[in-house]
Amino acid sequence: MKLIDGKVISGYVKDRVKEEVSALKEQGVTTGLAVIIVGEDPASKVYVNNKKKACEALGIISEEYALSENTTQEELLALIDELNKKPTINGILCQLPLPRHLDEQAVINAIDPQKDVDAFHPQNVGKIMQGDYDFVPCTPAGIMEMLKYENIEIEGKTCVVIGRSNIVGKPMGMLLLHKNGTVTICHSRTKNLKEICRGADILVAAVGRPNFVTADMVKEGAVVIDVGINRVHNKLVGDVDFEAVKDKCEAITPVPGGVGPMTIAMLMQNTLTAAKKQNNR
Ligand code: NDP
Repeated sequence: MKLIDGKVISGYVKDRVKEEVSALKEQGVTTGLAVIIVGEDPASKVYVNNKKKACEALGIISEEYALSENTTQEELLALIDELNKKPTINGILCQLPLPRHLDEQAVINAIDPQKDVDAFHPQNVGKIMQGDYDFVPCTPAGIMEMLKYENIEIEGKTCVVIGRSNIVGKPMGMLLLHKNGTVTICHSRTKNLKEICRGADILVAAVGRPNFVTADMVKEGAVVIDVGINRVHNKLVGDVDFEAVKDKCEAITPVPGGVGPMTIAMLMQNTLTAAKKQNNR
């Protein structure tokens, strides 16, 4: 079994980004990311803090906009409009979920697609469908980077994704399809989930349930990618029952230290891509 080490691979991506950010700076071009957070969600605060730290380490300017829980839709849209116009900001990210009174899709739609480093704007989603894109949602992008780094062939492989969210499952399926995998996307209404998963050469679990993928769902020699981040008794665990599954796999990602660090690295990559595009580099 090969452990796919997200810390090592994300380090490699970040080094590459850092070099390019610095080369751009020498040409007088800065790279800047604005992160908006609304309210006090503790998990969101941790994510935003990690993103800020990653920016600092790579020479990317980061601006944090921490808005109160009571922020109105108009106030949030006005901030996004301001950031859309701000030349020193190349990427805009609004940390989700938003408080319930805010219209998440309207907020996503308001971000300039050129600055949409999360790739959630309908224009960028459409481009991903067509296979001609600049930005890919960071988590699926990170998984593709891991597969590439580990020389894991996708073409002709049976790929099963559990989960169909707009953030992970759907774009993940699309990216695997673009690489000529034969893709099945499963969800809560899927029948015979176990059998479908057992047919997978590459199995991606993005469910949000601890230890959901058990050994009897995994084919001998499969590649297993665990996207899940679940807090159990103050410990982070994935969607895959790692101890039971690991010996059956050709390769597997751990939690923590797998997909998580890749997600942040790909956000940095997307921010760099935005800066380059906006400055015709
Ligand atoms: P969502 O809750 O949006 O989606 C979960 C998906 O799992 C849904 O499509 C749902 O189906 C499906 N599902 C739920 N129960 C079952 C079941 N019993 N059988 C089959 N499918 C089921 O989650 P996200 O996609 O946003 O995130 C998934 C996980 O990944 C979470 O743990 C999240 O924390 C983590 N995550 C990790 C990231 C990282 O960087 N490592 C980044 C983003 C997310 P249905 O659509 O039918 O409801």
